[in-house]
Amino acid sequence: MRVLITGAAGFLGSHLCDRLLSEGHQVIGMDNFITGSPDNLAHLAGDPNFLFIRHDVANFIFVPGQVDAVMHFASPASPNPASPFGYPNLPIQTMKAGALGTHNTLGVARAHGARYLLASTSEIYGDPEEHPQKETYWGHADPIGSRSVYDEAKRFAEALTMAYHRYHGLNTRIVRIFNTFGPRMRLDDGRVVPNFIQQALRQEPLTIYGDGSQTRSFCYVNDLIEGIYQLLLSDEHMPTNVGNPCETSILEFAQTINTMVGNPAGIVHKPALRLGDDPQRRRPDITRAKEILKWEPKISLEEGIRLTIPYFQQKLELAKS
Ligand code: NAD
Ligand code: UDP
Repeated sequence: MRVLITGAAGFLGSHLCDRLLSEGHQVIGMDNFITGSPDNLAHLAGDPNFLFIRHDVANFIFVPGQVDAVMHFASPASPNPASPFGYPNLPIQTMKAGALGTHNTLGVARAHGARYLLASTSEIYGDPEEHPQKETYWGHADPIGSRSVYDEAKRFAEALTMAYHRYHGLNTRIVRIFNTFGPRMRLDDGRVVPNFIQQALRQEPLTIYGDGSQTRSFCYVNDLIEGIYQLLLSDEHMPTNVGNPCETSILEFAQTINTMVGNPAGIVHKPALRLGDDPQRRRPDITRAKEILKWEPKISLEEGIRLTIPYFQQKLELAKS
C-alpha cells in the first residue's frame, strides 16, 4: 500500500512510519512540526519508499500520486498546561487538527478510494464513571474544561469519520489509544513518563499532581503499533480500544520508576488539577481488540520502562552538551 501518515514526525507517527516501511509499504509522512521533530524521521532520509511533505493538515491537502490508506495522527497530545507543547497551550491548533485535519484527511481518503484510520483517544471517555472503559461507553467529558479542546475535537473527529463511513461508504477505522510511552517522546512535552524518567535520572523528586491515587494503564509503543497495524488491515469500522489494561496508580508508578532508575530523591506532591481536568481512573477493556484483531499487549510496564530509560538518558546528555 501507499500510505499517508499525518503527524509522522511525532512520537507515534514516526514509529508507525517505521512499521509500515518494514512491512514493505510506501509511506508519505506529513507534519508541520508543531509538537514533533525532524529528528524522529532523520533515519528515513534517502529511503526511496519514504516521502515527507511539510504541511499543516488544517489546510487543504494535496498528495501527488495514488494513496491506498490514510492514517490521521496529527494532533498535539499532551494535557500538561506547564508544557509549551501541551494542548491547553495550543488550544486552537488542537481543535483545528482534530476537526479540520480530520475533514481534510477524510477528503483525501475519499478522493483516492483509500482506507482510513483515525487516531482517537481514551479522552473520549472523559473522567469515566464506567470502569474499565468499553467502546460502548459514551463518556463523561466537560465540554469547556482544560481538556475540552482535545476531547471535543476527537469526539467531533470520530463523529465525522462515522459520517463519512455511513454516508459516503468510506472504509474507515477508529482506534481509541490509551496512554502509550516509549522512545521518541519529547523530553519537555509534560506527560508523566518523560517527566518522571527525567526527574529520576536527574536524581530529583518526582512531581505528583494531587495524592497520586489517580490511575492510568500504560502501553509500550511497540505493542500499540502492532495493534494499530492489525486494525488497519482489518475491516472493523466501530471504534476499538488499543492499550494495556495493566492499571497502576500514579503514586505506585512513581515508586516503580524511582526504584528502577535508583533515585533516592523520592516524590513531591504538587496541587491536584481541577476536578474533571485529571481523570481519576483509566483502564481499557480490550475484549474487542482481542477478539477482532487477535491482539493483546506483550510487554510489561517494567520491561517497557527498561527499554525507554536509555533513550531519555541520551536525550538528557544531548541537552546538556
Ligand atoms: P506527538 O505530539 O508526538 O505527535 C503529533 C504530531 O502531529 C507531531 O509531530 C505534530 O507536529 C503533528 N501535528 C500536530 N498538528 C499538526 C497539523 N495541524 N498539521 C500537521 N502536523 C501536525 O503526539 P503522539 O503522542 O505521537 O500522538 C499522536 C496521535 O495519537 C495524536 O492524534 C494523539 O491524539 C493520539 N494519541 C496519543 C496517545 C499517547 O499516549 N501517545 C494517547 C491517545 C491518543
Ligand atoms: N502527572 C503527575 N506528574 C507529572 C505529570 C503527570 O502526577 O509530572 C499525572 C497527571 O496528573 C495524570 C497522570 O500523571 O494523572 C498522567 O498524565 P499525562 O499528562 O501523562 O496524561 P493523561 O493521561 O492525564 O492525559
